[in-house]
Amino acid sequence: MRAYLMSLAVAAPALLVGLAACSNNNPTVAIDATPANPTGAAAVNAERLISADREPGSWLATGLNYHEDRFSNLDQLNDTNVRELGLSWYADIDTERGQEATPIIVDGVMYVTTAWSMVKAYDIKSGAELWAYDPKINRAKGADACCDVVNRGVAAWNGKIYLGALDGRLIALDGKTGKPVWETQTTDTNLPYTITGVPRIVKGKVIIGNGGAEYRVRGYVSAYDAETGKMAWRWYTIPGDPTKPFEQPELAEAAKTWKGEAYWQIGGGGTVWDGMAYDPELDTIYVGTGNGNPWNQAIRSPGGGDNLYLSSIVALDPNTGKYRWHYQTTPGETWDYTATQPIMVADLNFPEGKRRVVMQAPKNGFFYVLDRETGQLISAEKFAPLTWATHVDLKTGRPVEVPEARYDKTGVPVVVSPTAQGMHNWHPMAFSPETGLIYLPVHINSTTFATIPNFKLNLEGWNTGIGFTPGVGVTPVVATGTAPKQESYLLAWDPVKAKEVWRVPNEVYGGSGILATSGNLIFSGNHKGDFSAYNATTGQKLWSAPTQARIVAAPATFTVDGQQQVAVLVGARGLPNDQKRTSLLSGNNSRLLVFKTGGKAALPTELPASANGAPARVKIDPPLLTANNEAVASGEALFAANCAVCHGQTAIPAAGAIAPDLRYSSLLSFGNSWNSTVRDGDRAQRGMPSFKTMLTQEETDAIMQYVIKRANDEKAAQEAKTP
Ligand code: CA
Repeated sequence: MRAYLMSLAVAAPALLVGLAACSNNNPTVAIDATPANPTGAAAVNAERLISADREPGSWLATGLNYHEDRFSNLDQLNDTNVRELGLSWYADIDTERGQEATPIIVDGVMYVTTAWSMVKAYDIKSGAELWAYDPKINRAKGADACCDVVNRGVAAWNGKIYLGALDGRLIALDGKTGKPVWETQTTDTNLPYTITGVPRIVKGKVIIGNGGAEYRVRGYVSAYDAETGKMAWRWYTIPGDPTKPFEQPELAEAAKTWKGEAYWQIGGGGTVWDGMAYDPELDTIYVGTGNGNPWNQAIRSPGGGDNLYLSSIVALDPNTGKYRWHYQTTPGETWDYTATQPIMVADLNFPEGKRRVVMQAPKNGFFYVLDRETGQLISAEKFAPLTWATHVDLKTGRPVEVPEARYDKTGVPVVVSPTAQGMHNWHPMAFSPETGLIYLPVHINSTTFATIPNFKLNLEGWNTGIGFTPGVGVTPVVATGTAPKQESYLLAWDPVKAKEVWRVPNEVYGGSGILATSGNLIFSGNHKGDFSAYNATTGQKLWSAPTQARIVAAPATFTVDGQQQVAVLVGARGLPNDQKRTSLLSGNNSRLLVFKTGGKAALPTELPASANGAPARVKIDPPLLTANNEAVASGEALFAANCAVCHGQTAIPAAGAIAPDLRYSSLLSFGNSWNSTVRDGDRAQRGMPSFKTMLTQEETDAIMQYVIKRANDEKAAQEAKTP
């Protein structure tokens, strides 16, 4: 069954009430996202969301529909004509952090979020910015974000756009003007909670979780009235202070799976920071829960236990927050193996008949298919070469662990695959009911897990209870005897047979979200900077466009006056290798890109002149290196331990770098300003926290000398290239 592209450009809600009553046998009617007479912005209601697949000209919710399958019924672009795609328009984004949002497209307007929880609305015909909203996050809050100050998108409902902001606020904006209607604080502002996930809206309730399980928080998910912002319910993922009553009856059972006092004193984790999906037939919402806090179970729950409901898929009643069932992917989690990854609802055709399932490919490397009514495990097969377990026992539903992987029990440092990055992270997967395949961005990685001798609670930073190196002179054991090589690929996975069908390797390591369409196409970006279309049946690459930026977000597709277009937000963690900066607003060329057949727009090839007329090209101009070798060597070690996670290994921001290239910093020429920034927090509002309590001035001086050395290395290399 293919979609018919009929440009039914009418005021949507009235028509949609009618559509919702249609039988499922009717052909899909493609209502265009560009109404002839717009009657209001963000006019999304329950009927529209339930019938989202009958309105493929729009993209009404982050995962496209309540099932979150990211499969569009649009087929105007297909495996024979997709090579004619060209850039239609683009918009520069004014941040240079990671861009993780999928745009939503409602009634002629595209809404996206960027890093620092900023929201922008664009006219889909002209590309003109209609409004922009900045929640003005205190930049010091960036220190509480484990994995960059990102945001994965907004929800639309009854004229309003809903944003979960990094600082824990849930904010409702007027869809037409971007002006705040209400906001409510969903977290304790004294604790390092953050929000990066997308609100979901079910029957007038906005459902939102949060993150922070690397720090010291207790996870929960809450629902708020969409009109007033009043809290309707809250469900805690783990038990709290045992001297107080349980907030929910099932926490009494959960408490039996925890030991000691540390978990609730430190936080315990289990944050609901990303994946959710909703089944309107069963009126059930499925949420994923995160890792334990601290990661090391020997500290968190000495003596073990399953630690419910960490790393679980949980089914809840969206009206009340009442618990229905759970499935725990990683009992007694000790490796940061969250089950917050995207969750998808689908009907699968097994040889014995159709089954209503919920699916997830969490960090731990198993692909889970569960009966979504009962939570019964149907299958759990490795989609990647993980080494922490041999398999999942389908009788018990439990993983069979490789004993040496449990460093927290053995006390022996061990190399385990995957790392905390997971075999799959938040990057959205897609499912085509036409090919029957899941399209999954996979990354293979390994790291050393080691317990630390004296855990001390850090009130300002991470509390993982883990050493990431085995220690000087210690050779770690390797779980299963071999660690797989680091690589990443786009995987086509058959969820019925629980088997790989094909894969497309990435030239540059990293994950990137995926869209599937009825045109037998998959769209996805990569870390080399290409945005590409593939044949959904074979994986053959059919089209590709350079975007000048790393791509981690998932694309969306929609129609403008009956023409199918594709949008993707680009920009993440430094520039692709050998890519120049070409955006005045963004050091990593963050942009919103929109493609259509025959599109003729072009990205700039050079950095444009800045507004005051001065050439904007950043020239490397470090001071002469005066420090001795010992100071530089000590700076190198300190940089690796304290700075590299954000500013890049060897001071070169590449994959994994979220902060500026310090080799180009003017602070190097003025020693006082270096320490004002690094020690005194002068740039805390721009996301650079103070290191005063962590490093001595001698140490921060040595780090500066090392960066000056690296800047002079780069200057020499550039001069050697210049004829
Ligand atoms: Ca985590």
